[in-house]
Amino acid sequence: MTRETMTFDFVIVGAGPAGLSAAIRLAQLGRARNKTPDICVIEKGETVGAHILSGAVLEPTALEQLLPDWRERQPPPHTPVTQDRFHFLTPKHHLRLPTPPQMKNHGNYIISLGLWCRWLAEQAEQMGVSIFPGFPATELICENNRILGVITGDQGRDKTGEPTARFQPGIALRARQTLFAEGCRGFLSEQLMRQFRLRENCDPQTYAIGIKELWEIPPGMHKPGTVLHTVGWPMPHNTYGGSFLYHADNQRLALGFVTGLDYSNPWLNPYELFQQWKTHPSIAPLLASGKRLCYGARCLNEGGLQSLPRPVFPGGVLTGCAAGFLNVPKIKGIHTAMQSGILAAESVFEAQSGETCTVFMKKLQDSELHRELYRARNIRPAMKWGLWPGLVYSAIDTVLLRGQAPWTLKNTADYASLNKASLSPKPHYPSHDGRITYDLMSSVWLAGTRHDEKQPVHLKLKNENVPVTVNLAEYAGPEQRYCPAGVYEFIRPENESPYLQINAPNCVHCKACDIKDPTQNIVWTPPEGGSGPRYEGM
Ligand SMILES: Cc1cc2nc3c(=O)[nH]c(=O)nc-3n(C[C@H](O)[C@H](O)[C@H](O)COP(=O)(O)OP(=O)(O)OC[C@H]3O[C@@H](n4cnc5c(N)ncnc54)[C@H](O)[C@@H]3O)c2cc1C
Ligand code: SF4
Repeated sequence: MTRETMTFDFVIVGAGPAGLSAAIRLAQLGRARNKTPDICVIEKGETVGAHILSGAVLEPTALEQLLPDWRERQPPPHTPVTQDRFHFLTPKHHLRLPTPPQMKNHGNYIISLGLWCRWLAEQAEQMGVSIFPGFPATELICENNRILGVITGDQGRDKTGEPTARFQPGIALRARQTLFAEGCRGFLSEQLMRQFRLRENCDPQTYAIGIKELWEIPPGMHKPGTVLHTVGWPMPHNTYGGSFLYHADNQRLALGFVTGLDYSNPWLNPYELFQQWKTHPSIAPLLASGKRLCYGARCLNEGGLQSLPRPVFPGGVLTGCAAGFLNVPKIKGIHTAMQSGILAAESVFEAQSGETCTVFMKKLQDSELHRELYRARNIRPAMKWGLWPGLVYSAIDTVLLRGQAPWTLKNTADYASLNKASLSPKPHYPSHDGRITYDLMSSVWLAGTRHDEKQPVHLKLKNENVPVTVNLAEYAGPEQRYCPAGVYEFIRPENESPYLQINAPNCVHCKACDIKDPTQNIVWTPPEGGSGPRYEGM
């Protein structure tokens, strides 16, 4: 097959905060040295921001560094945080706890990361960066064990992979250096980690799934700038996670529930936990007269410093959540993604084609980003001991030891944590009222997700039998519950064996199945460009 080839100095995969910060920094470096590097950013979403989902409270440190005059550049709404609340919930009551130091948000802003990425993309374009939304990178260009760019996905193949009348082959984007900024559990980033053994000297990466809704609530209930985090009910005591609720601008309320993917009970259902949490007496009144506007889900990294892979290989680097630069106790990865993007840009700017930029590792080691992640490294692993022991340890580690404990706690892989269904208690989740709590399919509708049903299924099974012989038989089909979009359904025809039906068009690209499947049998691959959610303001 002949395909078009385009050549750039730098190709950046992913228009999130990491990729766009890298693009802007590269353009700035070019301008400072009277050079005009060809910089290209590709994004799998239909538009920049369409696949972006975050909380989000922005710590503006990296933004100040990247664009010191950002306030004069007509940025999207950003509501200064006016108060932090940290509550422990029981089924009927809430107890206010002291806000942990890392979760204090004085000087931070409540934003929609999707809107901010659109704005960052505009800033980059004004500096000469080419941004192509609707183009997923699906293959690496690898020659002599060096990465020389990526190939974008083909359009117009049928279910069996055969070209149809509207077939268009993907484009080869060749680059001196390629920066991978695909976010959490990036498809090509994971391939690179395997190919170049980038994870050889680190712990396994660990994750959580965050499910979010955006609501509009009446003015009387809306307190712009208020940030609430809760732990406790309805999360089982042995499972890590909790909620966030942010009063943003324009009567918007961003709320969500984060569940650590190291949970052990295969009956657990993160979506239903979120719905149940909304019925708490301290939350439900906020929503009672409100309107739900949007729904979505996305995984986030939780492994921290000890789970960071080597982020360099011949011809490119990994940045942002593709590598795992997220500060878990802060529940913040935007400023760290931006910071890693900035450092990556500064490291690759002068590099030769195919060169391994080890200078990136040196810059990271000497950075505030590294110091921040070092101080935070033991908090999340300690949560494996349960909520209260974890909180007590966190207080000691943070306040007494100041993050300098002479030990580093270990992470283990999430997919290996499930107990057998027959040995696990089956939780009861209440039915939905259609006012505060909703069924899964009406939620997925609000994600605006779309995939052409005629394209090849982008969720691949390495072994077609495993879902029934292992997942269903031993774990009661956990993918039916952890997938926040109802993609996986076990069908039981009368007098026939059950089988797994994959409703791929519903997928919101959260990556939970790629992470949590107990035998690592499910592989998420990028579908045709522009497929997936169409988030507005997430
Ligand atoms: C529920 C939730 C709440 C959060 N709350 C906060 C918060 O309050 N504050 C905070 O600082 N952080 C928060 N985070 C974390 C923060 O959102 C991430 O750390 C941050 O977005 C990571 O930035 P990134 O650029 O690395 O990746 P992403 O933001 O994930 O961006 C990656 C981009 O790359 C695109 N992409 C992926 N693969 C390809 C491909 N192969 N080809 C082309 N494009 C591709 C994606 O579509 C996406 O647009 C939260 C995360 C979640 C899930
Ligand atoms: S199929 Fe996988 S990636 Fe898609 S929404 Fe479900 S769990 Fe997330």
